[in-house]
Amino acid sequence: MRIAIVSDVHANLAALEAVLRHAEAEGALDGLWCLGDMVGYGPQPCEVLDRLREAGARPVAGNHDLAAVGLVSTADFNPAAAAAVHWTARQLRDADRRYIESLPQVRREEGFTLVHGTLRWPVWEYLYSHDAALAHLSRQETPFGLVGHTHIPMLVVEDGRFPRGCELFYLQDGAVVELRPDRRLVLNPGSVGQPRDGDPRASYAIYDSEAGTFSLHRVEYDIAATQKLIEEAGLPRWLSERLAVGR
Ligand code: ZN
Repeated sequence: MRIAIVSDVHANLAALEAVLRHAEAEGALDGLWCLGDMVGYGPQPCEVLDRLREAGARPVAGNHDLAAVGLVSTADFNPAAAAAVHWTARQLRDADRRYIESLPQVRREEGFTLVHGTLRWPVWEYLYSHDAALAHLSRQETPFGLVGHTHIPMLVVEDGRFPRGCELFYLQDGAVVELRPDRRLVLNPGSVGQPRDGDPRASYAIYDSEAGTFSLHRVEYDIAATQKLIEEAGLPRWLSERLAVGR
């Protein structure tokens, strides 16, 4: 089984299409798991939701998804993010709103638990510290966890031999992580639509159940096309500029 794992697509259709093409070029996909923040920041929320549903995505909710339908407040969002939330809310169709309102915050697939942030605070907490990783792992009942939200591809390995009980590692293009049932991991595939690790290419992962691997992939896409749509929509300029630098 080959499953594509995407997160933080953020209404960037060009990036999502490039990722799906790349994933399918290697062979047929048997599934698509989505770790939230399908919308927000980007210029094509409805198109991205249509594309993910058409591909049969199995999603969890992210903070931007819930904010766009008024289920969480934008008080903790920065001004550009909040402006994008309000713009997104005006674009969504009734069916989009119902779809987002129906999203679970946590979902289990095979031996994986999917959540946007952490299992401690599913839509809000960033998993990039040992404290957050341990809090998450203590609630993870499957061998493997999948998280998004930070927009940075990462691996957490739980092992009592590490001084703090676990260790965090960045993942780069081509990284392959071996999945063994006796070694608990948390994996972050990075962001499709707004990478923040300094590499502007779209980021996603493939779970290959036969090989027992999680592999990370970076894919070039037409950044200028998305930037043009951001400007045409009147969204904050910073949201366009950051795509070019991956920050
Ligand atoms: Zn996000």
